[in-house]
Amino acid sequence: MTHDIETAILTTDFRNAPYWWDAAPLAESAGGGLAPSYDAVIVGSGYTGLRAALTLARAGRSVAVFDKERPGYGASRRNAGFLGRTLKKSYVDLKAAKGAAYASAIYRDLSMAYESTLAFIDEEGIDCHAVRCGRLIAVTSAAHYAGLERELAGMKADLGLPYAMVPRALMREEMATDLYDGGAVIPDLGSLHPGLYHRGLMTSALAAGVAIFGNCEVTAVEQTVQGERFRVTTIAGQTRARDVVVATNGYTPKSLPWHARRVIPFVGYMAATEPLPPALLEKQLPHRRTVIDSNLDIDFFRPAPDSPRLLFGGATANGLKDPAAIATLLHGRLARALPDLADVKLSHVWTGQCAGTFDMMPHIGCHDGIWYGMGYNFAGVPMGSYFGLRIAQKILGLPVEASAFEAATFPTLPFYRGNPWFLPIAMRYFAWKDARLARSA
Ligand SMILES: Cc1cc2nc3c(=O)[nH]c(=O)nc-3n(C[C@H](O)[C@H](O)[C@H](O)COP(=O)(O)OP(=O)(O)OC[C@H]3O[C@@H](n4cnc5c(N)ncnc54)[C@H](O)[C@@H]3O)c2cc1C
Repeated sequence: MTHDIETAILTTDFRNAPYWWDAAPLAESAGGGLAPSYDAVIVGSGYTGLRAALTLARAGRSVAVFDKERPGYGASRRNAGFLGRTLKKSYVDLKAAKGAAYASAIYRDLSMAYESTLAFIDEEGIDCHAVRCGRLIAVTSAAHYAGLERELAGMKADLGLPYAMVPRALMREEMATDLYDGGAVIPDLGSLHPGLYHRGLMTSALAAGVAIFGNCEVTAVEQTVQGERFRVTTIAGQTRARDVVVATNGYTPKSLPWHARRVIPFVGYMAATEPLPPALLEKQLPHRRTVIDSNLDIDFFRPAPDSPRLLFGGATANGLKDPAAIATLLHGRLARALPDLADVKLSHVWTGQCAGTFDMMPHIGCHDGIWYGMGYNFAGVPMGSYFGLRIAQKILGLPVEASAFEAATFPTLPFYRGNPWFLPIAMRYFAWKDARLARSA
């Protein structure tokens, strides 16, 4: 990292690690010795894996969770902590393409994921700053404003979901910027501290008897002909399991080829500012809402829940790896959106792996007897938690209503093996599409 960049935009205690890890550092392995068999083995220790594990363990099943890295290393302790009930795919478009009944069922499930995650946090007593702070969607063109209004009006009419449009003239009441052409507030959406949420979930899972093995990559899952149905090979040895859950989302390895062929891993980028004078922070986001912009390639902002900092991200899948280059890019985006913060320094910059899908929808299901939940497209805080719960309910044979997400087939493309070489082209296409829409207004 060059000295010039260090002194200009980074604090002296800068860390190339998630801000969330300050309050919720990654734990070491807590699995003990590997047993010869378990009722269920779970690959991946994020929200999806742990929520499934906890539910199974509380129902009396023996459960082992394996993670290639330390538990919680994945996106679950790296994300922005926005808690919503929206998809990349718009409600209005989904309704036009697949009919009102399907679109409503999908969006009802999203609401269920959102509400059940908040209820779960409450019931478990997980102190993770979960609040219904509201979300501002800031639009980048007049055409986006019209499209957003259409979308939110459709959702209100069909699903009763609340919103309030914010014309350009009133934007300064929401955010200290003139960059956007207005926006909309969805008043009941929420946020949390993702690190503390994950830590609380892990504490509950351990207390319920789940064995969590960190630094223990699963290298193969094979069906057996004997009593227990699967032989699971890890770098610490082999074990057997009646049920296996793949919960690896953006970190899905090539050793699980069916799953790797269906998710598109991409990198998300985030940063935290140094602590700001409280009045300066309050001026930026007076209502302490989460903010995303309306582009396909989104920028997003929020206040930290536990210190006077602004957290933000964007430039998804841009391909940068060098922390100094990432910091420079993100700092530029911050200064463009919130000019009052052009001179503040960054204390943390980090990345994390997300997973897109070819139909832009999350997927839950069972293939060749192996359960999976993945492809959350930036909505995995509620969806991962919810799919983990639902997978466990399915394994337990509980009489739960089928999720609308289960019906869909999980598409891939011919010759795709999990290496998304086309992402830079797709991101350039998204930027061109955003710019074209803006010009059309
Ligand atoms: C920067 C960023 C911001 C985001 N912001 C939001 C947001 O605001 N709101 C939201 O809802 N979503 C957000 N997301 C998405 C969300 O974080 C994820 O969808 C969610 O955390 C996925 O959880 P998971 O449990 O499925 O997977 P993860 O938490 O990613 O865990 C997968 C785990 O699988 C492990 N693994 C992989 N291969 C193996 C193997 N062979 N053996 C054992 N373990 C293995 C990995 O090490 C990893 O720990 C964001 C993501 C990123 C990266």
